[in-house]
Amino acid sequence: MTSSHFKITRKPTRAVHAGRLTIGAGHPIAVQSMCATRTQDIEATLGQVRLLSQHGADAIRIAIDSKRDIEALAEIRKQTDAVLVVDLQESYRLLPLVAPLVQKVRYNPGHLHHHEKNIPVREKVRQIVTAAKQHECALRIGVNFGSLDPAQSAGDRDPIEAALQSVEEHLGYMQELDFTNFVVSLKSSDPNDVIEINSRFSDRHPEIPLHLGVTEAGMLPMGEVKSRVAFENLLARGIGDTLRVSLTLPFAEKFKEIELGQAIVSDVYAGRFRSVPRFEQQGLNIISCPSCSRVENEAFIDLARSVRELSSFAQAENITIAVMGCRVNGPGETDDADLGLWCAPNHVNFKRKGELVGAFSYEEILPRFKQELEALINAKRSGAAEDSSAANAR
Ligand code: SF4
Repeated sequence: MTSSHFKITRKPTRAVHAGRLTIGAGHPIAVQSMCATRTQDIEATLGQVRLLSQHGADAIRIAIDSKRDIEALAEIRKQTDAVLVVDLQESYRLLPLVAPLVQKVRYNPGHLHHHEKNIPVREKVRQIVTAAKQHECALRIGVNFGSLDPAQSAGDRDPIEAALQSVEEHLGYMQELDFTNFVVSLKSSDPNDVIEINSRFSDRHPEIPLHLGVTEAGMLPMGEVKSRVAFENLLARGIGDTLRVSLTLPFAEKFKEIELGQAIVSDVYAGRFRSVPRFEQQGLNIISCPSCSRVENEAFIDLARSVRELSSFAQAENITIAVMGCRVNGPGETDDADLGLWCAPNHVNFKRKGELVGAFSYEEILPRFKQELEALINAKRSGAAEDSSAANAR
């Protein structure tokens, strides 16, 4: 669909400064990506940074989990002037060492509960903000449906409201700490949820810049479809100041995240839409993480592809399969899938409907996965047959 008269009015967000990059306040929508290489492999990670920069990445994220990662980051910092963003999952304590090396820091409210449980979250956020202020870093409060704050997601609570409540709590901390140089992200692997939650947030806080993303959008071409559905819908309404397309790709092809992000932005601004307003997917749904330096075994990318190939006979089945690279988002994201796999260094954890089936070696997992997939399909079919004979008997 193309419209030559398409006009977008951006939300009146404030400017957030990450080094030379300004996000929000009508600035061009910044397209980001993330290094998938091991951070301690300095040459490989620098190679990713250069590749992504050459393709026009406005900011490049790197995962940091240890002091050795920070030593590598310091070396990488010396050799690139790219706008670097660090992704802190459970490692908020490392921030004072990391902040001098980067322009922006992402923290996940859901991951501030795992360590030092005796320290209140408010105090942990105070430490993060103090380091960000001292080194003039921007922050991203990055909420992810796969790793919600347990205090907000208890019981049967609507995950959209739970995620919004989690952000509200952190907006309160920002206000208390008099810090405004931050953006917010609200991500899910379901594009419809991404549209809904970002729309609701933007209605409530039109001044706060939003970083858009569909987590674990997976492999191409479905990864592009899911990303377009969410981003076209939101960008067309002026929502979103920066974005990342998350695709499962070999390291050498990571630049496709940037190319696709840029293409979606320019298509929307030219009035070209390729998606439908809602993502009404029927049939097989495979979600897989884009991988990053935390991936526990590099066999993950091949595993994701093999799972897709092995499942191709089940295209018509309404089944969700999640394939995740590590324990950070693996346990949460696989809970809601019909079949979920998440990688450990020497084995793959395998769940069926949120229950652990077992841990299997990388050689054993595919035949076992196929067996479980066939059993699941048979169970669904016999359940459907029983339902229809019960209905006929009534
Ligand atoms: S699940 Fe793990 S490996 Fe995959 S993107 Fe998330 S943190 Fe990285």
